[in-house]
Formats: sequence, C-alpha cells, structure tokens
Amino acid sequence: MKLPGAMTPAAWQSVSRLGISLLLALLVGLATGRIALAFAVVLAIYAGVQLWNLLRLEHWLRRRRIEDPPDISGLWGEVVAIVSRIYRRKQFHRARVTALLREFRRLTTAMPEGAVLLGPEHEILWFNRRAAEWLGLRRKRDRGIRIENLVRHPNFVEYLRGDEPGDGVVVQDTSDISRWYSFHIVRTGMPERQLLMVRDVSREQQLQSMRRDFVANASHELRSPLTVITGYLDALADDQKLDPTWTAPILEMRRQAERMSTIIRDLLELSKLESGERPLDEEPIDIPGMLALLRKETLALEHRPHEVRLTLDSTQWLKGVENEVHSIVSNLLSNAVKYTPPQGEIELRWWTDEDGGHIAVRDTGVGIAPEHIPRLTERFYRVDSGRSRDLGGSGLGLAIVRHALQRHEGTLTIDSIEGRGSTFTCHFLPSRLMQPPAEFLQAKLSG
Ligand code: ADP
Repeated sequence: MKLPGAMTPAAWQSVSRLGISLLLALLVGLATGRIALAFAVVLAIYAGVQLWNLLRLEHWLRRRRIEDPPDISGLWGEVVAIVSRIYRRKQFHRARVTALLREFRRLTTAMPEGAVLLGPEHEILWFNRRAAEWLGLRRKRDRGIRIENLVRHPNFVEYLRGDEPGDGVVVQDTSDISRWYSFHIVRTGMPERQLLMVRDVSREQQLQSMRRDFVANASHELRSPLTVITGYLDALADDQKLDPTWTAPILEMRRQAERMSTIIRDLLELSKLESGERPLDEEPIDIPGMLALLRKETLALEHRPHEVRLTLDSTQWLKGVENEVHSIVSNLLSNAVKYTPPQGEIELRWWTDEDGGHIAVRDTGVGIAPEHIPRLTERFYRVDSGRSRDLGGSGLGLAIVRHALQRHEGTLTIDSIEGRGSTFTCHFLPSRLMQPPAEFLQAKLSG
C-alpha cells in the first residue's frame, strides 16, 4: 500500500488521537490487569465516534443544498471541507453554463433569421423561434424528423443533397404563395452538424417581380408607337420628292429607331427568361446543324470578319429549349462579329467530354481587359458604350446568354486578352447530352 507522502495537520491530529487512546487503553489495561477489555472499550468508543462523524457527513451530503457543512474537527473535517469545495465549484460552473445557455437562447430568439441545426441525416436537432414560425416547426413533434419531410420543395431537396453550400436556394411557400424563403447551409466545422439559415425574402421577390412586370409592360407599350415611327421614317426615306438635306437626318433617325427596337426586343426576351414564364419544354437539339446554319447566316452578313470557321468535334445533340439555345449562340456570334475587324476571324466549336457539352465562340477581335470580365453579363454593362452603341448593341446580349444558360443549368466562361481576342464558352451538363435520333442518322446516311 502506498502511504500518503506529507500528512496534513488534521491527519496528524487524528493519528495522534488514535495513538493516545491506544496508549491510554494500554495503561488502564496494565493497571487493572484487563488489557483486552480496555482495548475493546477504547476501540468501541473510537469506532462510535467515527460512525457518528460518518453519519453527520452522510446527512449533510443529502441536504447540502439547504444546510451548512457540519463542524467536525480532524480528518473528517478535512473531508467535509474538500467535498464542500468541490460542490461549490460545481455549482459555480453550472450557474455559468446556465447563464450562457440563457444568453444563447435569447440571442437566437432575437435573430432576424431562422436557424435549424441538422444532424448527419438532415434530422432536425434544434431550431430557433423564427425558423419555427416560418417553417411551421413544433419543438416536441418535429425534433428528429428529417427536414426534407417538412420542406419538400424539389429545389430545396436538391440543394440540401448537393455538395456545396454556394449561394443557397430560394423557395416559394406552398401553403402561402406570397411568401418566399431563402435557405443557406452553413458549415459548422463539425462533420455531423450543419446549420441551415432561413431568411424571409418575400419582399425582395415581390420587388423583383414588380420590376420585371414594369420592364415588360413598358417595353410592350413602347413597341407600338415605335412601329408607327419606323413606318413613317421608312416612307420618308423612300420619298423621292424629299428635300435632300433631310436624307442624312432621316437615315440617322431610322438607325436610332432600329436600335430602340433592338433594345425593346432584348428587354422583352430577358424579362421572359427571368420570369420563368416560358415552360422548359425541352426537346432534342441538333447542335451541329444549328451551328452550321448560324455560320451560314454569319457568312451572309455584309460586315463580318473574313473567316468564320466551324469545328465540330462531336455529333451529339443536346436536350434543351431550341430557341433559347439558338439565342445564346446567336448573341455570342453577333458580338464576335461586332467586335472583330474585317481582317480577323471567328471560330465556332462544339465538343463533348466527360464534363458535358461545350459550345465555344472564339474571335480575334478587340478583346476585353480582365477587370471588365466579371461584370460583362450584367444588363447594360459595356466596356466601351460609344462603340457598342455605334455597332447597334443593346447592352443586353450577354445578360440574355447568362439567363438562358441558367435555365439549362449551364455556365459561361470568358477568356480574353485585350487586343488579341476573346473566347466565350458555354458548358452544359453531361445529363443533357444525347445521341442523334436513329431516323436522323438514317436520313443522313441515305441522303
Ligand atoms: P452589347 O449589345 O453592348 O454588345 P452585350 O451584353 O452583348 O452587349 O455585351 C456586353 C459588352 O461586352 C459589350 O458592350 C462589349 O464591350 C463586351 N463584349 C461582348 N462580346 C465581346 C467580344 N466578342 N469581344 C469584345 N468585347 C465583347
């Protein structure tokens, strides 16, 4: 047995008390000639005192919340002191944790966003009041239930199962269609825990839809008067009796009217794409055929770069909305034509690989400085507005490209060197690729 190294004064006191008692028993035993009895009496008294102290300690331990520690001397007193110190420390920590928890609860309740803590299977572990209110969660009923079983919107489920939190997802409330919520996953640093943040974005959605409606309505309203003006201008331009000094102004007016109708056409197309009004009635698109036709149309243009090449590295087709994919490529191609001098060249390329299908439009034109590239797809963003206007650009072409691509889960990459040329590449997912229909191949072989 290992003996305690340094004994405390209380331990010394207890040991010496026992020693003195035993000595006293020996002396009394020797004096009376009944040593065994003397020892037995002294030890019985000693055991009685220890038992009494043990009982007091046990009694106090049971009622330590309401009673002060017993006043015991010696080793028992030391034990009581140690136990009460441990107890006080525990009480202090518990009070701190309780205060922190209360503070955390108050903070999460005051948060303007909803928060839901999810486990590895997306089961709900905890949520704050805001999330409960917006998602209709109830503490007792919904804890442990997988969130997909409560928020069933396909876009939300797809987002939740995705690998990257990204920008989150916006979902319309199925029970109240005027409400929209945005969901965003926040990594917690713990592999088994994810925090789902919820925001009420109904107001932003409402404003966006008002803006879209306004632009669409204004564009519609402007279209008819513009048609009248263009008609009169055409008539005036053809009028032989017109004073020749008016020829140049009328030509300029026609050019400007044409620009206005291009802007209106593009605005209408963009608002249609944005509103998601057009259903995605997808069909197989013959991309090689489409590109060949677009090349032919480009070659027929009066002002164009001298070489317009087509490289087809794949015969595959693409699933999508034909006029939207056509609009994507024709916008990119018309930019390449606009921003490339006559001695330059353009290449249209289609290829497929394990990442999907890719359409690239490369030119050897003016190129774009790197600081402009991230903003090119914003509406009305132009590197050189004067040049864009002179070339009849609406400033909306690339915004249309971005939206149409988004509707096809596609992405756009832009590589450019100022003064050397640019390459705009559209990337489509492998799931959108398909082999040309058998009857098409047969017709091609026989014809
Ligand atoms: P725009 O009608 O002005 O061409 P877009 O949205 O199609 O509008 O393009 C936005 C801007 O991006 C253009 O004003 C131009 O500055 C730049 N841009 C687009 N395509 C090219 C290109 N192929 N080469 C150089 N600059 C380009």
